Parts: sequence; structure tokens; C-alpha cells
Amino acid sequence: MTANILLVEDEPAIQELLAFNVTQCGYRAIVAHDAASAMTQISRALPDMILLDWMLPGVSGVELARRLRADRRTRDVPIIMLTARTDERDKVLGLESGADDYITKPFSPRELVARIRAVLRRRAPQMSDETVAIGGLELSPATHRVSAEGAAVELGATEFRLLHFFMTHTERVYSRSQLLDQVWGDHVFVEERTVDVHIRRLRQALEPSGCDRLIQTVRGSGYRFSTSG
Ligand code: CA
Repeated sequence: MTANILLVEDEPAIQELLAFNVTQCGYRAIVAHDAASAMTQISRALPDMILLDWMLPGVSGVELARRLRADRRTRDVPIIMLTARTDERDKVLGLESGADDYITKPFSPRELVARIRAVLRRRAPQMSDETVAIGGLELSPATHRVSAEGAAVELGATEFRLLHFFMTHTERVYSRSQLLDQVWGDHVFVEERTVDVHIRRLRQALEPSGCDRLIQTVRGSGYRFSTSG
């Protein structure tokens, strides 16, 4: 799954540098030059991460971060704040804007990428391309391969994303609408029963290995991936 990263930065040179590095890493860059255009982008589709400049014309980055954290739809989107000086960084920290991490300008591309990867790994593990192994299943996002008890499993693109999400969010119950938001994207209008169709296909693919038992139906609530019981 390609992570969409929203870059909110008013300085064209830095915006360009950010977009270049983010794209080089295989992420999709969405650009906004101020808080208002960022909100327009966010209302269109929820990004997987936001790189947010602290000094923006109009509404500041800190204020925007605070608004995003206060809104149910956007509160879980990881935010990395870009600050120009270390004293700004201290202020940001003091303000508790809700940012997940901070990068001080000027930054090296290597530092930028390392921080993006670290925050995604922590906050949105289904966006990471690291291999996940749990309950006899092994899934490699980089090669798009899945094995169950050592045997290769063929999955469709949606089943693959669904399984990746489950394997990185175990033991919690997700409603159909939460799964739609997380796996299909929050602005995709799909009926909730579509989730059931793909769950059924995923279970069928995992059945020969017995791993289908990991995907549990929680009556009246949704689905859970669990290695216990
Ligand atoms: Ca700026």
C-alpha cells in the first residue's frame, strides 16, 4: 500500500525538496501551501501522514495540528512538524500540538526519510513495507507474497491489504465501516457488505492451512484478527 503524504509548506524550494524525497521513497506526495489548502486536500481524502511546516501564512502549523487532533476524522493521522530553528522546536514541544515527531530545517534527505519511516512504522504499520509474521502467516508487502504454514497463498489485491491491516492490528475488533476507512480509504463509497465478501475470500484462501481461524467474526461488532482462541 502506497502511503499518501500531505506536505504543507509555503516555501516553494522546501516544498519541492520534500516532494522529491518523499516520491523517491515510493510514497505519494500531495502538496498544500497553507492551512486552508491543506484542509481542502484533507477533506478530499485523508492522507496517511502530514508533514507540517510550523511557520505558515495565516493559520500556523501548530494551530492546524491542534485542529486536526481535535477532529475525530483526522485525529489519528500521524504528523511530523517542520521547524526552522531549535528554539521553535522547543516551543512546539512546549505547546503539545500533538505532533508525532519534529524535523528541524535545514534537514538532510536521509533524516527526513528515516523519520517518516519511523513514524509510519509506529503509527501506520500497514503502510510499512516490512515483512510481518504472526500466527503461522508471513506477509511481505515488498514482494506482495503471503505464506501460511510455509505454503504460498494467492490473494487478490484487496484481500492482501485486508490481511496486512489485520496482521499489523491484532486482537482488536474493527467494525465494517472502520475496515472500509482503513483498508479501502475513507472517501471510497462502498457498501459495508463488501467487507464481508472480501473477508469470505480471505478465509477461503487461508482455509487449507487452517489460518482462517485467525480471522474471527465478532457478532454485532465486526471482525478481529486474533492468535488466541
Ligand atoms: Ca514556512
